[in-house]
Amino acid sequence: MGASAAFHLKKLGAKRVALLERNQICTGGTAKSCAIVRTHYSIPSNTALAVKGLEIFRHFADVVGDSNADCGFVNSGYIIVAPEGDKAEKLAANLDMQAKVGAHTRTISRQEAQELHPLLNLDDCSVIGYEPESGYADPYLTTTGFINAAKRLGVTVKTGCAVTGLLREGDAVTGVCTNQGNVSAGAVLGLIGPWSGALAGWADTSLPLEISRHIVLTFKTAESYARSLPIVKDLTTENKMYFRPATGGVVLVGTGDHGDPLDEPDNIDDNVSLSFVEHQGGQIAHRMPSFADGELVDSWTGPYDITPDWNPVLGPVSGLKGLYLGYGFSGHGFKLAPAIGRVLAQSILGQTADVSIEPYRLDRFEKGNLLTGSYGIGSIS
Ligand SMILES: Cc1cc2nc3c(=O)[nH]c(=O)nc-3n(C[C@H](O)[C@H](O)[C@H](O)COP(=O)(O)OP(=O)(O)OC[C@H]3O[C@@H](n4cnc5c(N)ncnc54)[C@H](O)[C@@H]3O)c2cc1C
Repeated sequence: MGASAAFHLKKLGAKRVALLERNQICTGGTAKSCAIVRTHYSIPSNTALAVKGLEIFRHFADVVGDSNADCGFVNSGYIIVAPEGDKAEKLAANLDMQAKVGAHTRTISRQEAQELHPLLNLDDCSVIGYEPESGYADPYLTTTGFINAAKRLGVTVKTGCAVTGLLREGDAVTGVCTNQGNVSAGAVLGLIGPWSGALAGWADTSLPLEISRHIVLTFKTAESYARSLPIVKDLTTENKMYFRPATGGVVLVGTGDHGDPLDEPDNIDDNVSLSFVEHQGGQIAHRMPSFADGELVDSWTGPYDITPDWNPVLGPVSGLKGLYLGYGFSGHGFKLAPAIGRVLAQSILGQTADVSIEPYRLDRFEKGNLLTGSYGIGSIS
């Protein structure tokens, strides 16, 4: 988010832009991301942002102005399946809505899905959606691609530079305090993901935020899992499992559920229980019977920054002039980052945003204007 916003701020005309990162580039939640880029949502503005984001992933070199830049985007396509009943109805309605806001998506038959992904067992799938232009990217390449382009435009990038507070004059934020000294600024944009609780303290405000731990597993069989196989989102499973190809001929498997509550994003436990591996392995073997003899290859964990409606907070903080926020990406921010960096930059610079950030205002929680998706809680809102 920070890399995209810094790039877009400079590209759209900000005079001086500095990006301050307490560690190295791409060491936060983004480093753990499964980096799936799809347009399926039930909230129209989320799909509108995802459509803009997908365009940037698909034309990354042109956007950042470097023919050698590569965000690692693989156009594998995206399949989403739902069982008969309520979920099937919601899926069908959401596919209609997405087409109206510019997404290339449609329902397909079981036969067509089988042709696209021959390993799938689709017996219990009633409605199947397909996005031919979607895929997955590489978090590190994407982030460094934006950073390199930002630096070329003149953005200052400071690593090992931890923000420790806000500089204020009355009700205006005039910069930040860091472990490397004060930095003054006409506008401060806080994009610190799961660490945003600290921002609430600096700004003396309350930011609804919960942190949770998510587990990603990779499995393999004797046959290499092709990197061009479509991503699959499985709404028949309680934890809204998804899977996609990953480096080394393996399948990467994640969940779109709440995850395990976490007090502190820096204290994330990487241990994974055998019962969880068995559960996910069982679900994968159900959806792809050739994985009945699959083996676990690897596992990792990563933090989600969750808001009460599982959608981000974007824009100014009322009562504090010059402070803008973007947090609470609730497990679905990677695909949105190229577009959100741009719309935040447009808003800060007083330009018309490609997609309005009005629905994402912080005060929606007080006012009861929640952006709750039709699938309930989870990263597919
Ligand atoms: C396991 C997992 C799988 C996911 N899969 C997907 C997916 O398939 N598709 C998708 O769209 N999204 C996915 N997501 C969500 C997505 O990765 C995140 O929403 C997105 O990467 C968040 O980016 P960010 O820039 O907000 O946060 P981060 O990447 O966490 O960046 C915040 C940065 O702020 C820095 N920072 C913190 N405090 C300070 C400070 N005081 N001073 C200076 N710097 C500071 C941190 O070091 C960090 O680098 C997934 C997330 C996880 C954990």
